[in-house]
Amino acid sequence: MPIATPKQFADMLDAAQKGAYAYPAINCVNLTTLNAAMKGFADSKSDGIIQFSTGAGQFASGLNHKDPVTGVIVLAEAAHRLAEQYNVLIALNTDHCQPQKAASFLDPLLDATEARRAKGENNLFQNHMLDASALPLDENMEISKKYLKRCADLEVILEVEAGVVGGEEDGAAGTEDTPEEHLYTTPEDMVAVHEALAEIGRFTFAATFGNVHGHYKPGAVKLRPEILKEGQAAVQEKYGQDAEFDLVFHGGSGSLLEEIRETLEYGVIKMNVDTDTQYAFTRPVASHIFSNYEGVLKIDGEIGNKKVYDPRSYLKKAEENMAARTAKACEDLLSTGKSIL
Ligand SMILES: [Zn+2]
Repeated sequence: MPIATPKQFADMLDAAQKGAYAYPAINCVNLTTLNAAMKGFADSKSDGIIQFSTGAGQFASGLNHKDPVTGVIVLAEAAHRLAEQYNVLIALNTDHCQPQKAASFLDPLLDATEARRAKGENNLFQNHMLDASALPLDENMEISKKYLKRCADLEVILEVEAGVVGGEEDGAAGTEDTPEEHLYTTPEDMVAVHEALAEIGRFTFAATFGNVHGHYKPGAVKLRPEILKEGQAAVQEKYGQDAEFDLVFHGGSGSLLEEIRETLEYGVIKMNVDTDTQYAFTRPVASHIFSNYEGVLKIDGEIGNKKVYDPRSYLKKAEENMAARTAKACEDLLSTGKSIL
């Protein structure tokens, strides 16, 4: 089955919202990580989301170019071809894009989707994130409105963010010094976001409730999932049951399973997974290199062992372990066995 159509992706989000589960959104950077994420979803009979950061795009376009647009288009086109082999739905997203990068990054990607649609083909991306959370909320909503309008015309869902996610990930979001009150989205913010965007088109919302990018020991992150509950209640009280947000959970590494599960009850339908799958990818590579030390290196004039320095020998192990970590994310988010295909 190919990449989800706009209708299938909307149905995925509706099914998750109704069934109180969420999709892992796995950051990928090359063919091996794409294959790992797809294998993890397929083995779990779970639909899922694959996403690319601007940094992944730069990496994928090659060291001489470092062009985020070319890189993510190559990754997305490859994903469209690879996904045809599987019996689950995969949706494609681009991760954090700050307002100053939007014209050079989101615009050409939306143009690429527009060109595909003109040929009767599926959208290149089903979802894009515009992260204007560093701006005051009214300015954030002004630019978010502009992009949501264009996305809606192309049946692309826009992910927006308000408030600051702590930690750091590809240059996104806050710092250690972020004042604590900014780490939590208020119910008033959630109402304001609904009022600004709901009539324009479908969007998802990355609210902040103490989440931080990067990696922390379990328990180190002080999440307050009730922030999400309070925000949803404020919006639904004013605008009815249907005003419920489709929420996105950023910066979940190091969160306790019970906290992750609690967010599912408050409308989280997508959780970004990057740090944990990065480690899952690299762990078996380290093991391979250490345990085949005399084969991967040419020591004292010897010739090493081609079988163990062939990149496939360790990248297969990396793919296998990242697929297993993706499957664990499906379990954590209760999407296992729930493909709507
Ligand atoms: Zn994020």
